[in-house]
Amino acid sequence: MEIFLAVIVFAILVWVLPMAWQRLRRQYLRSRPLSKKQEAILRSRLALYPALPPERQQELQQNTSLFLRDKEFVGCNGLEVTEEMRVVIAAHACLLLLARDNNCYPDLRTILIYPDAYVAQETHHHGHVQSSHLSARAGEAHFRGPVVLSWDDIQQGLTHPEQGHNVAIHEFAHKLDEEDGYVDGRPPFERSEDGKDWAPVMREAFEALRQRLHALHTRAESAEREESQPPSTQSISVLDTYGAQSPAEFFAVATEAYFVIPTAMEAAHPRLYREMQKFYRTDPAALLRGNRPGG
Ligand SMILES: [Zn+2]
Repeated sequence: MEIFLAVIVFAILVWVLPMAWQRLRRQYLRSRPLSKKQEAILRSRLALYPALPPERQQELQQNTSLFLRDKEFVGCNGLEVTEEMRVVIAAHACLLLLARDNNCYPDLRTILIYPDAYVAQETHHHGHVQSSHLSARAGEAHFRGPVVLSWDDIQQGLTHPEQGHNVAIHEFAHKLDEEDGYVDGRPPFERSEDGKDWAPVMREAFEALRQRLHALHTRAESAEREESQPPSTQSISVLDTYGAQSPAEFFAVATEAYFVIPTAMEAAHPRLYREMQKFYRTDPAALLRGNRPGG
């Protein structure tokens, strides 16, 4: 009996109290209002903001307030982090959390911001042979670690939304994906019944993108043999062929399209769009149409 009581007390001290403390802390930080300047940046730089109903705008402000106070922003390669950078990044991270029960990226502490695309060492293993080379990157999300972003690439995405790219949305989709312990392209669903059709729909869309990438490469090779101008291997549909690398990259690329070019994505990939909507719950295409289900 004494051992049983000791286990209960131990569990309360080690598990229940810290969780309750974190919940209270998040609640308090959400309640802190954004400054007028922060609110103005949110309104002007987050494309979907004007389409959100007032209660979702308020929720986004609260989560952005929590994010800004909870995470550390670090400038790299001499970059000075501005208020605009902090709010733009926080707002796009929190856009993915709207209308969903969430702890605001609990494993994320630090966001590293580079002025533009940065170079990272990439290591590959082929059996016993290890090779490494330098590669340019616009962003990356480390498992249970920091998110790294290029500010120049974020700005390009905001200036040209028609291209369907937003590196901040991409990297924060990876952070959501890892919340169940696996970066596998399937994020944890709030209600398991919402995820029952996810796997077959995602698999089919992923395979279709892989085949399209393969067809583009084949056409490029045959054009090269005929010494004509090779066609571009860049994406011509709403999903970037970068998503063909893995199911995890597919989910991140699909999330970019879902929030940046929702109308085009819904038209081109209606089944995929519906599955994404079951996870994200917000329906950006409907919001832009002006009728706001799930918004
Ligand atoms: Zn990625």
